Amino acid sequence: MNLKGETAVVCGAGGFIGGYLVRALLDAGVAVRAVDIKPLDEWYQIAPAAESLALDLKDRANCFAAVKDVSLVYQLAADMGGMGFIENNKALCMLSVLINTHMLLAAQQSGVKRFFYSSSACVYNGEKQTNPDVVALKESDAYPALPEDGYGWEKLFSERMCRHFEEDYGLVSRVARFHNVYGPLGTWKGGREKAPAAICRKVIEAKLSGKHEIDIWGDGHQTRSFMYIDDCIEGVNRIFASDIHEPINLGSSELVTINQLVDIAEDIGGIRLHRSYDLNAPKGVNGRNSDNTLILERLSWEPSIRLRDGLEKTYRWIEQEIATGGKG
Ligand code: NAD
Repeated sequence: MNLKGETAVVCGAGGFIGGYLVRALLDAGVAVRAVDIKPLDEWYQIAPAAESLALDLKDRANCFAAVKDVSLVYQLAADMGGMGFIENNKALCMLSVLINTHMLLAAQQSGVKRFFYSSSACVYNGEKQTNPDVVALKESDAYPALPEDGYGWEKLFSERMCRHFEEDYGLVSRVARFHNVYGPLGTWKGGREKAPAAICRKVIEAKLSGKHEIDIWGDGHQTRSFMYIDDCIEGVNRIFASDIHEPINLGSSELVTINQLVDIAEDIGGIRLHRSYDLNAPKGVNGRNSDNTLILERLSWEPSIRLRDGLEKTYRWIEQEIATGGKG
């Protein structure tokens, strides 16, 4: 699918992934409308070549305004954050269903050609993620449904709405299940940050303060995979252009324990810290990895940027933010 000359709306454009997507679409010759609930001065990135609007997409009328005269929709807006946020804000996370419902209705009624939805690995059945020694999650493991409470249920429900809008109304959709995305220009403090940014920040702060200690959520043995932002954007574009009608994993398959993630951040910082483990902190499932069999089969591609390389760039960016009093 050649995107040049198309007109797209990116919802959640003031956020981490949305900001990168706007830039990538502009580079591909797409005219972009960027929408986010946040005031423009709080967006992570603003592209001067895009039309940038601050709109609450829970509101139905705003969704119709957002899709006016566009051919493509990228729906990434969601009230979300890392485990600390989603475990403590389940109702807020579920209210993102208003965004997805109204955006699908607006897209269908205004004759949009294609709709992208950013789902999450949090849709997967929790019983398949109890062991840190994981079997990677394949797409069919979302059912029978037992997703992450709150956030994961909303994502699974909205995925299914995409499916039924396509089956019943012909609105063509593509759904990617993102697995832990990280990189510069994302949240690194304030409570919504995820593990890679939080750990980089803690290592940098320990270095600066001279107090060589780090607190880690959980026992450090939990396993995860982390996808660098450039792989995420590449994957969104490939999935969007593909003929894949079912939700598909978009994640790295490089599995690490949280302790190994800390090792890497310490290596980058050139320091070793005393670790204390907070077993009462939100820590999510014990183990999770992305099974990339399907994406390799369908696209002959998978995310491949090594964690060490991506984390180095993220660490250096957060270091810079701290030095210059960045907003996080
Ligand atoms: P983010 O929080 O940085 O971006 C989401 C944006 O949506 C925010 O800027 C927020 O202000 C905006 N938003 C929230 N409510 C809105 C509303 N009512 N109207 C308009 N905008 C609203 O998050 P992100 O990391 O860029 O994630 C983007 C998408 O990818 C989300 O849907 C998220 O659930 C999904 N996802 C992300 C990850 C990850 O690791 N980052 C993993 C799985 C899925």
